[in-house]
Amino acid sequence: MEAIQSIRVGPVDYEVVLEPLSEISHRGRSCTGYVSFDGLKIVMATKNPPARLFGIMWHEVVHAIDDLLHVGLEEKQVDQLGYGIMMVLRDNPALRSMPEWEKEVSAG
Ligand SMILES: [Zn+2]
Repeated sequence: MEAIQSIRVGPVDYEVVLEPLSEISHRGRSCTGYVSFDGLKIVMATKNPPARLFGIMWHEVVHAIDDLLHVGLEEKQVDQLGYGIMMVLRDNPALRSMPEWEKEVSAG
């Protein structure tokens, strides 16, 4: 995974903290990543396969979006959306930045 220092979710810049472990502890539980809403950090256990790490990152970003927009997602829904976004972005690299729709429309 490309080194990412921070992830911006709306008005919040989360510092990305990479722990060279396969699991980390958060609030007395073992996990592979978590968002610290107070500390504004996204912490991830990096001793996981790259695809798993990509999924962990998107899972935590969905948590951050959920918190910002007060969607009220359940943990399973965060997992599903995280994998869904990861799946679409991996299969459609052009969607990783804003497509130039204007150019297409004015050309026709
Ligand atoms: Zn979660």
